[in-house]
This record gives sequence, structure tokens and C-alpha cells, in this order.
Amino acid sequence: MNFNPVKEAEKIKDEIIAWRRDFHMYPELGFEEERTSKIVEEHLREWGYKIKRAGTGIIAEIGSGDKTVALRADMDALPIQEENDVPYKSRVPGKMHACGHDAHTAMLLGAAKIIAEHSDELSNRVRLLFQPAEEGGNGALKMIEAGAIEGVDAIFGIHVWAELESGVIGIREGPFLAGVGKFVAKIIGKGGHGAAPHLSIDPIPAAADAVLALQRIVAREVDPLDSAVVTVGRIQGGTAFNVIPQYVELEGTFRFFTQELGKFLEKRIREIIEGTAKAHNCEAEIKTEILGPPTINDEKMAKFVAETAKSLGLKVGEVRKTLGGEDFAFYLEKVPGAFIALGIRNEKKGIVYPHHHPKFDVDEDVLYLGTALEVALAFNFKG
Ligand SMILES: [Zn+2]
Ligand SMILES: [Zn+2]
Repeated sequence: MNFNPVKEAEKIKDEIIAWRRDFHMYPELGFEEERTSKIVEEHLREWGYKIKRAGTGIIAEIGSGDKTVALRADMDALPIQEENDVPYKSRVPGKMHACGHDAHTAMLLGAAKIIAEHSDELSNRVRLLFQPAEEGGNGALKMIEAGAIEGVDAIFGIHVWAELESGVIGIREGPFLAGVGKFVAKIIGKGGHGAAPHLSIDPIPAAADAVLALQRIVAREVDPLDSAVVTVGRIQGGTAFNVIPQYVELEGTFRFFTQELGKFLEKRIREIIEGTAKAHNCEAEIKTEILGPPTINDEKMAKFVAETAKSLGLKVGEVRKTLGGEDFAFYLEKVPGAFIALGIRNEKKGIVYPHHHPKFDVDEDVLYLGTALEVALAFNFKG
């Protein structure tokens, strides 16, 4: 690399911010990223990338060499009404880039521009993945089906990170984000008059017991040195104060860092709901599903990221594990790589809200650092 990626990225800092603001003003939900992907595609074509479409996703390639490095950005927004009072506030009611995927798309566009300008110096093939539907849609799987990681030797992705000080690159070896599971249960009794419980089978105490019993899985059955979560996020039953309902519905999520623990949680959630229902003479219908694996960074690749970031003069810090999930995990199941955090928290600017909050924002002044790191990873990767 005969150029300084930080200097190059700094030159287009305002352009990156302008892209981010444009995406921010017109957020699109998962698999609806028509406008965003059209803008991305137009730029990439202009800069000489070969393009393949995967619905609203884009797979773009440039350069030649034995090794192929993939860089990924996600493009989708969330169904949240923005509460920030900023000139670039979302123009779409009820939709908002509250996770920072607008920034990811803008940073990778910046990297695409710089990589294209210096493509004659590339010794790798560079594949850019602009992915749809990260938020609960598993858009990564659609990209993989479309061949996004065929022939790829390493993959990297950056997520802006509200927990980290602005400009700090956070990297971990091994587990970073959790695997995600979901359960939906129906505890079925026999409805009747609230004054005659002996003539009914009341599913409400059964559901209440089940909710409490589920808490004991993590408290009493999981190794205290491991991390896991079981959350009941929805409980619904009954229609009137004097009626024993026919059934109660429960819905929740479980989180884990190993496949074994995911399977164990899934099994125990079923057993506990079924067993508790039975103890109350009720029946239970349960559906469980593992939606995605944990995001586990390859040790060698995480070290490579840390070294590359340091060589650019960036601040590198540790980032805490989180029980949040990320569909980047699907790529990492198949290809070594690393998921990287870029700190965007800035108390002076009032940028302190967590991801998915209606006042979430990013410190735009550091986005070019993410761009610089992506460029350096593409050029420096040796396999
Ligand atoms: Zn998110
Ligand atoms: Zn996200």
C-alpha cells in the first residue's frame, strides 16, 4: 500500500457524512432497501466494480489475486419513530436508522471509493457485501445463498458501538455477540366462571409458575462462569376480571455463546413449560427455534485487525461481549474473520443513547476511521 488510508479517508470525510445523512433521512426496513441499494449500486458501477444482485443486497468485486477479502455492511433500519431533533432526522414516520447501519453503508462506500482509486496497487481480490435485513431478517443467509462468500478467504465487518468512546476500535478474540433463540408457548386449560375455579382448569397460575421456573435455568443450571439469558418478553391471557381464560400465551428469547448451551436452553425451556403445565392439569404447545449462532471472531483474524488498526495509529481497546445477536455470525461459521466495533459515543455532543433507542445517534466525525480500517484490511490481508 503506497498511500495512507487514514489520510485518504479524511479527504472524503464530508462525503461519508453526507451519504450517512442521506441514508439516515430515508430509512428502509429489512428486505425493502430499494433506494439505499440503488444509490450504493450506482456509485459502485461508476467506480468500476463488478456487481451481482441478491435481491436488495449487493455483492461487488474489484481487483485480482490469489486471496479474496470480503468487507460487509448492513443497510436496514428499524421500525422506531426517531426522537432526535437534527437536520438529518428521519423523513419516514415510524422508521429510523437506530442501530447505525446507515453509518456502516456510508463507511463501506467510502472504502469502496478509495479501494477503487488504488485498485492497481491491490494484490487481493476485494468483495464488498452490502447486506439487507440484519435486524431479525437474517439477510446474511440470503447473501450466502447468492454466493457472497464463495472463494472468500477472510471476512470483516464493522459495527458502530454506543458503549465505546468515539474513535476507539474495539476488538475481541473468540465470542463477541450471542446466539439467539426464540420460544412461543401456549398453556391451555379450560375456561369458565371466575367464581367457580373448581369447574375450570385455570391456565393463569400455570403460566405464572412457568415464567418463574424459567428464571431458574440460568440461575441454577448454567455454569455461573458462562453467560446466558432467558427472557419472557410477552405474556397474554384473559379477557375479563371474572373469567378464567381458555389459554395463556408466552413468548421469549434465549441467548448463549456456545451451540451446546443453546441446545440445552432450548431443551430445558420446553421441559419446564411442559412440566409446569402438566402439574397444573394444563396442556402446553411449544415452538422453539434457534434463529442464529453466536458471533465468534477468529483469533488470528482478530489479531490481524488489532495490528492493522494500530499500524494506522488508531486507538485499539477491548470491547465487552454482549448478549445481543448479529447475523454476521453466519459468515463467520463458514469463513474466518472478525466483527469489529467502532466507538461512536461522545458525551460532549450528547451522543449517549444505546442502539435501538429513539434518540440513538453516532459521532459522525469518526466514521472515516472505520473507512480507513476497512481499506487497510483489504490491502494488508496476506492470508
Ligand atoms: Zn440492531
Ligand atoms: Zn446493528
